[in-house]
Amino acid sequence: MNNIVCKFGGSSLANSKQILKVFDILKNDDRKIVVLSAPGKINDRDTKVTDLLFELYNAFIKKQNFENIILEIKNRFVEIINGLNIEFDIDTEFDKICENIKFNIDRDYITSRGEYLISKIISKALSANFIDAKDLIFFIDKETVDFDKSYKKIRDEIKKIKNNKKIIIPGFYGMGQNGNITTFSRGGSDITGSIIAAAINSTIYENWTDVSGVLWTDPHLVKNPKTIEYITYAELRELSYMGATVLHEDAFYPVSKIGIPINVLNTNKKNDKGTMIVKNEFNEKNKFVVTGVAGKKNFSSVIVEKTLMNNQVGFLSKLLNIFYKYNISVEHCPTGIDTASIIVKSELLKEYRNEIIADITKQLEPNNLFIEDNLSLIAVVGRNIKFSNELLKYIFDVLSDNNITVKMIDQGSSRISIIIGVDDSDFEKSIKVLYNKLVDLEIRS
Ligand code: ASP
Repeated sequence: MNNIVCKFGGSSLANSKQILKVFDILKNDDRKIVVLSAPGKINDRDTKVTDLLFELYNAFIKKQNFENIILEIKNRFVEIINGLNIEFDIDTEFDKICENIKFNIDRDYITSRGEYLISKIISKALSANFIDAKDLIFFIDKETVDFDKSYKKIRDEIKKIKNNKKIIIPGFYGMGQNGNITTFSRGGSDITGSIIAAAINSTIYENWTDVSGVLWTDPHLVKNPKTIEYITYAELRELSYMGATVLHEDAFYPVSKIGIPINVLNTNKKNDKGTMIVKNEFNEKNKFVVTGVAGKKNFSSVIVEKTLMNNQVGFLSKLLNIFYKYNISVEHCPTGIDTASIIVKSELLKEYRNEIIADITKQLEPNNLFIEDNLSLIAVVGRNIKFSNELLKYIFDVLSDNNITVKMIDQGSSRISIIIGVDDSDFEKSIKVLYNKLVDLEIRS
């Protein structure tokens, strides 16, 4: 029998109608452990409960009237309780929360209550076991989870449960060193699910959302892009870094470390296969597949030219140090024999542009130094890209056929992506033509 951890996102829990779909999915006995986000939104008119809780916290801090916010949050839960047709004393829960807040206004405590309450309500509706995340997930500091301690506690607590009922765990928070509730950053229930899945060595980590998996490219730029069926963690990291948003980026680490696959699924279309995110490429020897295309605008390239640069030991290190001095992270660094370029986000360069030019001029005495702005970076990510002799030809042909000038190219050392720089004004068009050309490409090299 499988042992599946599943996490449901806010849109799957936005109201009672959505939650009934979740119950239907949970009829499968293999889905034993369930991690929940707070009720979110299914359309633009809705507000996420977590956003309302942040509003509530701000109202408390500013000593503003908060009764209407409490009422709005409470009404969301009342609709769910009534829609599920269960008895649940929401008033007492809210009184408790208000009492705690008066005693100590704590942002993380307040904003975690959406996950806490929905998990309490759903465990009641399913007669399931409820385990509070504060007893399972431990933080060393706000950014760091104590994995060993959390894994051990998760295993111990789950082992204690002797019945066969589901186990419901709120996502997004745990306990800090001081014994107070500590939350992850926004979207952090994905991380909770991943930690729980890793702790119990789950067969699979199902992440239920409102899309049928990870899309091949940005749906704002290409209409109905294809869904990626399989992708490795590393490939997805490349796509996410380049702007594809799927899971919280810290959610990969726990499951990927031990190779548990993540299945991104759609609560509204439960039979869709979604996307399977796996550790290793499959047995597709020499088969080359592009898995996706993603990109971002607004980069700048600082280009330094100096004759005999390659003979000067430490040239690059001095150049990089100048960016380090101004705390600017370097995205790419394509170099030639007598040229080096440093690619950074334009907004980061803005503040120290003149200082950087002055430092480079003084320390490196270049023959030429110039900055190219309005650069977009596009990543073509794929499996076995390193084997493909033809991919570059396809990319350059399709870009040049469409009068798009390639300003930069960088093949990541991971060899699973090729980064192309184009002018910002060509960005949207580039994504479209690359999608059309590469989406169904399969080459055996
Ligand atoms: N409810 C939190 C948020 O809206 C955490 C989550 O959904 O994962 O960010």
